[in-house]
Amino acid sequence: MEIFVPNYYKSFKCIADKCRHSCCIGWDVYIDEDTVEKYEGLNDALGTRIKASLCEKEDGVCFEMCGDGRCPFLNENGLCDIISEKGDGYIGEICREHPRFYNFFSHRTEVGLGISCEEAARIVLSAEEGGGLVCIGEDEWESGSPAEAELEIIAKRDGLIETLRGEGSIDERAKRMLLSSGADLPERSIDEWHDVLSNLERLDVLWESYLDLLLDAHNCECPKELEKPLENLLIYFVYRHVSAAFDAQDIPCRAAFAYLAYRVISAMCAAKNKKDGKCEFADLCEFARAYSAEIEYSEENTEQLLELLQELNQAP
Ligand code: SF4
Repeated sequence: MEIFVPNYYKSFKCIADKCRHSCCIGWDVYIDEDTVEKYEGLNDALGTRIKASLCEKEDGVCFEMCGDGRCPFLNENGLCDIISEKGDGYIGEICREHPRFYNFFSHRTEVGLGISCEEAARIVLSAEEGGGLVCIGEDEWESGSPAEAELEIIAKRDGLIETLRGEGSIDERAKRMLLSSGADLPERSIDEWHDVLSNLERLDVLWESYLDLLLDAHNCECPKELEKPLENLLIYFVYRHVSAAFDAQDIPCRAAFAYLAYRVISAMCAAKNKKDGKCEFADLCEFARAYSAEIEYSEENTEQLLELLQELNQAP
C-alpha cells in the first residue's frame, strides 16, 4: 500500500536533549507486547532495571514514572538510557513512532507529524509549500479497493485544504473552509470557548496561563507575518482530523474541530501581541504545541469537543 506524507515529513529529527517539552515527561509511556517480551529476555543490569520499572495499568503495561513525571530512563543529559545502551531496536513502538500519526484507508496510508512535539510544530508551521502530499514508498499491506465513503472523505478534505490555500486573509479562508465543510455553528465568543476549554482535563499548569490570555483577546490582531504559519496550522488539523472522519456526515464537526484550534491559537497570539507588543513565530509554535498536547493528544478532551461541536452543528 502506498504511503503518503506531507512534503516536510522527512525533515523531522528528534532534538532529544535540546527539547524543552520532552515527550518522555508527563505522559504514561505504554509498552507494546513484543517489546515487553524483549525486555523479559534481558538478563543484564539494564534488563533488571527495566523489569523493575514495568507496571500494569488499565490500558496495558507501562513504565512507572518518577515522582517528577519523568520516564525513569530519561537521564540528566536528556537522553534515553535504553537507546544509549541498546539502540533504537529496544524502545517500545510508541517511543519509536512518536510524534508520527497515521490515517489508514483501504488503498493508501497517510502519515503526518503531530505538533504536540515542539520540533514537529516548528517544522509543520514553517512549511514553505504548505505540506502538499508526496508518496514515499509502500508498506507491507496489500492495497485494496477504496470504499466510496473513503474517496469522498479524501476529496472533501483536499477541497477544504485548497480553500485554505486560496485568496483573502487567513481568517476569511478559515471561515470559508468551515462553511464549505457543511458546518453551521452558532456564533460563540472567545470567552465562551475559554470556559469550555477550562473545564477539560488538564495536563500541564502552564496551559492555564495560555488559556487566561483568551480573556483579553478582544480588539486585537495577530501579526501579519503569522498568516502563513496559521494557514499551515489549519492545514495540519484538517489533514489529520478530517481524514479520520467515519463518513461524510462526520466531516463538518471535524472541520469545526480544526477551525476551533485555529480560533483559539490565533486568539492567544493576538492577545500576546496586545499584551507584549509582539507575538513571534516561536510563540505561535508554543501555543500550538500546548493546544495539541492538551486537547488533541487527550482522547477524552478530543471526544468531548467533537461531541459538543456535533451538538452545536445540529442545533436549529
Ligand atoms: S517531544 Fe519531539 S523533539 Fe522532544 S523528545 Fe519527544 S520526539 Fe524528541
